[in-house]
Amino acid sequence: MTENVAEPENLQVTEPENLQAKYDSIIEKDSKYVMQTYGRQPLVLSEGKGAVVRDIYGKEYIDCVAGIAVNNVGHCHPAVVRAIQAQAEKLLHVSNIYYTEIQAELAEALVSVTGMERVFFCNSGAEAVEAAMKLARMASGKSAFVAAEHSFHGRTIGALSVTHKSIYRDPFMPPVSSETTFVPYSDADAIRQAISENTAAVILEPIQGEGGVNIPDPGYLKEVREICDENGTFLIFDEVQTGFGRTGTWFCKDQFGVEPDIMSMAKAIGGGFPMGAITAREGLSFGRGQHASTFGGGPLACAAALASIEAIKEEGLLKRSKENGAYFVGKLRNMEREDVVEVRGKGLMIGVEVNHPCSDFVDFAREHGVLVNCTSESVLRLVPPLVITKEQIDKVVDVLEQA
Ligand code: PLP
Repeated sequence: MTENVAEPENLQVTEPENLQAKYDSIIEKDSKYVMQTYGRQPLVLSEGKGAVVRDIYGKEYIDCVAGIAVNNVGHCHPAVVRAIQAQAEKLLHVSNIYYTEIQAELAEALVSVTGMERVFFCNSGAEAVEAAMKLARMASGKSAFVAAEHSFHGRTIGALSVTHKSIYRDPFMPPVSSETTFVPYSDADAIRQAISENTAAVILEPIQGEGGVNIPDPGYLKEVREICDENGTFLIFDEVQTGFGRTGTWFCKDQFGVEPDIMSMAKAIGGGFPMGAITAREGLSFGRGQHASTFGGGPLACAAALASIEAIKEEGLLKRSKENGAYFVGKLRNMEREDVVEVRGKGLMIGVEVNHPCSDFVDFAREHGVLVNCTSESVLRLVPPLVITKEQIDKVVDVLEQA
């Protein structure tokens, strides 16, 4: 497969007709037994290494979806796999009423890479957003939120309260916080107008992912920080999608030089293993009994996350994300296509906006060995593993140019 990557061992050779039967049986079981919440691609994936995944027929794909911005260090990074295996031999789970060395180590590492003071561990992005909202409410004694149009913060009822898109929200209303005011993204004045005496926090993605890879104006987040300070309102950055090198720095906040009060993270934190967390600035913390999670900060997740953070450092993936991201964006901008409205990106978080629904691109690309995802109807979202090579980027651009 790719560099950094061992060939899969014990690859079973199966007759094509048996593979077809296996494929059909998987699809049939899924349609019978799984709630059909996902618009799934007709693809059964079985292995992955680096920036490449392989389906059950053995066909390889360059993965520009990466679990949707999860596999930053690449699929099955050897150090992450080894760390999970070693930890699994020792301790799979213990309650948070006890200490573990691995959790303490990860907390220290996260404080170091985020520049914030303390961590709370959970299991997913939505849970991290819930924790951030709870902390803001508890510490401020206020209940309302200001969020951005086209925001996405997760599917739990609390996170949905600050998520904008109506197909995600409407069937589940009323929200927990009926006091959310949505304002246009990248419009600091709108935030100034929307903050009331009861606003606990402003919550923003430093770059909107699901909303279409929307990058705010350079001075926006700084101005929002000032507005929050003037009004005594907390600022939450949701870095669930933008974290861990995705945009070329540890967190996207680092590029804008703005520090939030609370930051949510998940997705890439565990190198592919599920985990979520919030970090908060000095003096801002839950106290005993105010929040908890049975699995939050479990030994396996912590081992995976520590190995993933080490890999990002050792392999220079922040620099690589920045450099290869610029290379990718440059090549995409040079594509000879009249339907491209805009190519935008920071690091390896890239959006290609076209002037029509982009689902046909997704099908064509998949048939030609490239996985991409379409968000906001007409934006191709490219969030490959940060280990993607220039040759792989060239191939992706070739395919998208032909699509
Ligand atoms: N916040 C942001 C910015 C996200 O992009 C997502 C997921 O796409 C979430 C929160 C929710 O994360 P999860 O699906 O892990 O609950």
